Amino acid sequence: MNHSDTLAACGFSDAELTAGDLVVTSPIDGAEVARLAQTGAQDMAAVIAASQAAFRQWREVPAPRRGELVRLLGEELRAAKEPLGALVTLEAGKIISEGLGEVQEMIDICDFAVGLSRQLYGLTIASERPGHRMMETWHPMGPCGVISAFNFPVAVWSWNAALALVCGDPVIWKPSEKTPLTALATMKIMQRALDRFGDAPEGLVQLVIGGPEVGEALVASKDVPIISATGSTRMGRIVGPKVAERFGRSILELGGNNAMIVAPSADLDMAVRAIVFSAVGTCGQRCTSLRRLIVHESIREDLVARLVKAYASLPIGDPRVAGTLIGPLVDAAARDRMQAMLERARAEGGTVHGGETVEGVTGGTYVTPAIVEMPGQTDTVREETFAPILYVLSYSDLDEAIALQNDVPQGLSSCIFTLNLREAETFLSAVGSDCGIANVNIGPSGAEIGGAFGGEKETGGGRESGSDAWKGYMRRQTNTVNYSAQLPLAQGVKFDI
Ligand code: NAD
Repeated sequence: MNHSDTLAACGFSDAELTAGDLVVTSPIDGAEVARLAQTGAQDMAAVIAASQAAFRQWREVPAPRRGELVRLLGEELRAAKEPLGALVTLEAGKIISEGLGEVQEMIDICDFAVGLSRQLYGLTIASERPGHRMMETWHPMGPCGVISAFNFPVAVWSWNAALALVCGDPVIWKPSEKTPLTALATMKIMQRALDRFGDAPEGLVQLVIGGPEVGEALVASKDVPIISATGSTRMGRIVGPKVAERFGRSILELGGNNAMIVAPSADLDMAVRAIVFSAVGTCGQRCTSLRRLIVHESIREDLVARLVKAYASLPIGDPRVAGTLIGPLVDAAARDRMQAMLERARAEGGTVHGGETVEGVTGGTYVTPAIVEMPGQTDTVREETFAPILYVLSYSDLDEAIALQNDVPQGLSSCIFTLNLREAETFLSAVGSDCGIANVNIGPSGAEIGGAFGGEKETGGGRESGSDAWKGYMRRQTNTVNYSAQLPLAQGVKFDI
């Protein structure tokens, strides 16, 4: 499909696509596809006020009824899966199945959130006082600002929005300035769900378009109690302290530097498949992309040889073409950063396989993924480079491998390939991986929505998506009810008057 057909299938009119000065280009061929209107900094106060007004109504709607809106969103997403997936391909450069997979992830989190809307449970706690009952109640918190990155242009919003909405919180979304079209298309889908729902308050789900300055208005406002920010650690270092300064709550989902340990007992056929998918999928532009391979010295040569061979046969090119496995980098700047890091790695003693610019579609930025054999974990290896570079390190015993795995500033995702139970359990134990995600015989990327997603250290500490991540979108209230005719004080304190 050409770009204009994809845009038309998502319901864009020519007027919308030429309404302003935010230039949107496709990484596939660098073509300009739209000039969109941006939200002015002066408009942000009204957006936030509308969200607060919506909150006052939405918090009173019973949670299962709020879940009905998310159920309808899931239905509308199912109906729009193909065109929205194709737009993700157009705007973020993902291959077709990854574009569709991103929309599937949105559908999955909607299903999860619908069930959750009847399960926002609090505890009942034993009271130390006779005739008393203690419990916890979870209440809606207020508007949730969602700032998202280019590489998951729509799924990240849905992880936040589906939960926030059932938890009783309105949502204001500031997508990446590189991917506003997928956000606008998602809002059209959301609008269809809102229309069918009928009586949702105005301003319940809003979209603001623009760069960091638009996000900053959300970050600065005490009327936006929750800021969920996904992007680089550089961004989180700015956003986190600003939200903390006003005692807001931040959910930070920042950079990763994810590793796989490959032990001598590993099933190498499986490991090779997992490595290739997680290192080169999305052209190495996932927060969970595999960036470091920590291989036992006894199998390093064999494994690297297999990987170099597998890499040589990977189809690189137009992500719209069936069979392509590696699409473009987001822009030429990403390629320049990749190349600069490969130069640095060489200077630190690395041996580079691949990493060259290749012909893809004219106007796009296409590279061969790189494998870099390193003499040790240098400064370059310890940085996240958002491109398909896989650094290979070797180890001799598991403690050393775990120490290498943990000795980076980031703490998102990690994994071990081993058939040895002791090694697997040690990796998952308190002395094992220090990441938010730790897998056995599965690569670090492609998480399911049922688990809590996020990471430690410079990854920011936030958790989104499944498990009890919903608690991040609500305020906890502890209630003590006295149904006796006495007024005993806690801890046996006497205060007779
Ligand atoms: P980025 O940090 O450049 O931008 C992310 C978002 O933050 C954009 O919407 C941007 O406009 C906004 N932003 C930037 N500065 C801001 C500021 N001062 N105030 C408010 N908003 C601001 O990131 P990117 O290049 O779009 O995405 C790639 C990065 O995102 C990688 O580091 C990747 O690891 C990370 N990421 C993390 C996760 C995760 O779940 N941990 C998921 C996806 C991407």
